[in-house]
Amino acid sequence: MIRIPQGVSLDPQTIRFLEQPQKMLIGGAWVEAKAGQRFSTLNPADGKALSTVPLAGKEDVDEAVAAARKAFETSWATKISPAKRGRLMWKLASLIQRDLQVLTELESLDNGKPMEKARYDVLGSINHLQYFAGWPTKIEGSTLPAGSPDKLVYTRREPLGVVGLIVPWNFPLLMAVWKLAPALACGNCCILKPAEQTPLTALYLGRLIQEAGFPDGVVNIVTGPGEPTGEAITRHMDIDKAGFTGSTAVGRKIMEAAAQSNLKRVSLELGGKSPNVVFADADMAAVLQSLHWASFYNTGQECTLGSRLYVQRPVFEQVVDALKASAEKLSIGHGLTNPDLGPMISEKQMDTVLGYIHSGQAEGAMLALGGHRCEGDLAEGYFLPPTIFIHEDDRLKIVQEEIFGPVVVVSPFDSQEEAIHRANDSRYGLAAAAWTSDISRAHRFAHAVKAGTVWINGYDLFDPAVPFGGYKESGFGREMGRSAIELYTQEKAVWVAL
Ligand code: NAD
Repeated sequence: MIRIPQGVSLDPQTIRFLEQPQKMLIGGAWVEAKAGQRFSTLNPADGKALSTVPLAGKEDVDEAVAAARKAFETSWATKISPAKRGRLMWKLASLIQRDLQVLTELESLDNGKPMEKARYDVLGSINHLQYFAGWPTKIEGSTLPAGSPDKLVYTRREPLGVVGLIVPWNFPLLMAVWKLAPALACGNCCILKPAEQTPLTALYLGRLIQEAGFPDGVVNIVTGPGEPTGEAITRHMDIDKAGFTGSTAVGRKIMEAAAQSNLKRVSLELGGKSPNVVFADADMAAVLQSLHWASFYNTGQECTLGSRLYVQRPVFEQVVDALKASAEKLSIGHGLTNPDLGPMISEKQMDTVLGYIHSGQAEGAMLALGGHRCEGDLAEGYFLPPTIFIHEDDRLKIVQEEIFGPVVVVSPFDSQEEAIHRANDSRYGLAAAAWTSDISRAHRFAHAVKAGTVWINGYDLFDPAVPFGGYKESGFGREMGRSAIELYTQEKAVWVAL
């Protein structure tokens, strides 16, 4: 029996889904793990189990790969026209729209996130699928003026084959669709592995994939932790590419596994420590409106979080005071009650963040807000409040390392050169933002900062048409837009002697 807060009700379909034993989708069939192992997925708002799912071992991944290879060779890439691929993807988007409420509730329960934010994620998934549904008919090669006149040379963009897609828990459905949509549009067959903390929306998506009419084996969904399940994917000799979103530490392991197995292609969307830079000439109303979301969205469990806030000295106090005031007003609670912030994903993640908070205090940063586990009604879940540190030393661990919790470190700066230098003083390079009313400064900042995305006078802006990915240790490969098509295809040159 699922525990839900008083006064909240669930869609009957959500309840039916949660009451059924969950299985994995392999070759069009819903199956248990061959070894019979299962594990629980919890609601982080109360630490109670929501459901159990199979724990896939190497032999299950082998079977999923065989099903995907068969589907690739016999249907998806050979018999289904690009236009039909697009229609199936559009149909899937419509089914997600139909079941918007159920997917929103499942995401909120499994991840803990507030209903409204879970709903954005589901809507974002629909948007993404619809964008990529337009691509299959537009993937083109070219003819080249190469060789002598009696040669015809042209290129084809072909799918890679079987791709393994490994995604994290912070935006479970959205991250799965970010990878599935371009992979499918390009004609690949997929093995999707959701994070072990949040498998439910991926499994529900599997049902919709079947209902939409995708041929068996085009999408296979295996559930389990990084080891053994994820590793069985990255070490597999018949997977052509591993698409990964997650931590930089696991990204390294994935490159190693790819190097030691079949040299499969790898794309990595990894961690971040993004600088959010406020110049004194910025439109303060706009800054203050966005600042608490840039600093604490998804309870800080967001790869692009503006976790390093640099504020030009003349407006430093004003910005810190306003951030404190707006952070104090953020409500915290069970996702189904739609607060501003939900819990941390797990006790382990909460403890990791508390460890960083203690390190910040020990290293001498000034704790201006938060810093301790939430108590009272929230004590049984993994709740942390918005936490603000003030410092002037970028060498601190809390400034250099990704915390992945609701912790922002704020520091004053004097000149534009200093701001750019400090923004770049990181091993990460996922995103950066600058707030200024000086157009030249804005572009100078955008050009000088080493990050895959730069926002000017805004934060966390995304669109499926715009490439997204990291510089430096934030990974490589660009998802979304045309770049994602390049990521999931390979180019072949054909020479014809006429
Ligand atoms: P994680 O790296 O621990 O796990 C991510 C996924 O990898 C999970 O599915 C996990 O089961 C799997 N995995 C773990 N070990 C593996 C292994 N040895 N082989 C194969 N798969 C393995 O990350 P997390 O804690 O789930 O997510 C948080 C991290 O993800 C943060 O660092 C965050 O910045 C990053 N992230 C990045 C982006 C982005 O787009 N750049 C988006 C979301 C999250």
